[in-house]
Amino acid sequence: MALVDIKSMFKAEILEAFKNAGYPAYRASQVYLWLVKGVKSFDEMRNLPKGLISELKEKYYIAGVEIERKLISKIDGTIKYLFRLNDGEHIEAVVMSYKHGYTICISTQVGCKMGCKFCATGMGGFSRNLTASEMISQIKEAELDNEIRISNVVLMGMGEPLDNYKNVVKFLRLVSSKENLNIGMRHISLSTCGIIDKIYELAEEKFQLTLSISLHASDDLTRSKIMPINNKYNLDELLTACRLYISKTNRRISFEYAMIAGVNDSDECAKCLAEKLRGMLCHVNLIPANGIDFAPGNYKKSGMERIKKFVNILEKYGINVTIRRTLGADINASCGQLRRSTKKVEV
Ligand code: SAH
Ligand code: SF4
Repeated sequence: MALVDIKSMFKAEILEAFKNAGYPAYRASQVYLWLVKGVKSFDEMRNLPKGLISELKEKYYIAGVEIERKLISKIDGTIKYLFRLNDGEHIEAVVMSYKHGYTICISTQVGCKMGCKFCATGMGGFSRNLTASEMISQIKEAELDNEIRISNVVLMGMGEPLDNYKNVVKFLRLVSSKENLNIGMRHISLSTCGIIDKIYELAEEKFQLTLSISLHASDDLTRSKIMPINNKYNLDELLTACRLYISKTNRRISFEYAMIAGVNDSDECAKCLAEKLRGMLCHVNLIPANGIDFAPGNYKKSGMERIKKFVNILEKYGINVTIRRTLGADINASCGQLRRSTKKVEV
């Protein structure tokens, strides 16, 4: 019989399972506390009797991540991890330090199916979904390794969170629960390339998280060229879903826009974007596209002058816009780049 992933279970589920197995309720609380502390084996649960430990080992396993590589930016202290999963797969996570505390960018899948042309993860193919426990483990491992408390989580690492909807929603409920890591929804951002039916589902959950949409273009022709998902759900459909999401949750949406020279950074693109977002409760994050020399389109990032001009136009139309600070530029901090370089070494 396949072992059950105990770290993806809610405390109430463990309580129920223990009750059915005839274990006292306080054992469930003890086990849960150990799991939240980040132990990697039942043997480390020192206040459990040996007999119970062996019974648990026969039914459950504890998911975890091991640090395979750790890079620290000399410029700003940003930390990038290459983690190894129980089955030998690799994922990446990045820890950034801000005035208000530490933020971690975690992965939700090993690879990604979406194939965006500027993205190292997208170009590296898809392997599998992560479990809720593997998402939690990235946070806990980084906390333990650096002796810090992480206050903010962004689902912007490898993978498309809404393509792993069930596990991601479970993770969100787990990580925000008081008895687990207790990181409130307002401290969590989820970024998606725009899987519309899942945006509608997420709207119904009424989570208070920040939804980020990877827009990267303001017309269908350009967006379809760089993001294949746009052939399935076009811009109008995406923005309609965003408007509904805002009305259901009362939360501002953040639009991500990576500036790629000569592709999506013209004055016309800025005007078109402003028209499309007119009147929406939103914010635009312009990202100087980075590390895209691998991309088949021979893409280059836009220069700062061009980006500033783009900002001016958006502002003239009353759109809230910022240029995202680049962190960890010297360590390939954008997700997908490290696993990609590891794969290159392996083959
Ligand atoms: N799959 C989700 C979340 C992971 S990607 C999504 O696409 O939103 C996280 C963010 O990094 C996205 O906004 C993505 O578009 C952006 N990104 C990917 N490659 C990039 C690159 N080379 N330069 C700048 N941003 C990039
Ligand atoms: Fe996947 Fe996001 Fe990369 Fe697109 S940008 S390939 S959706 S990880």
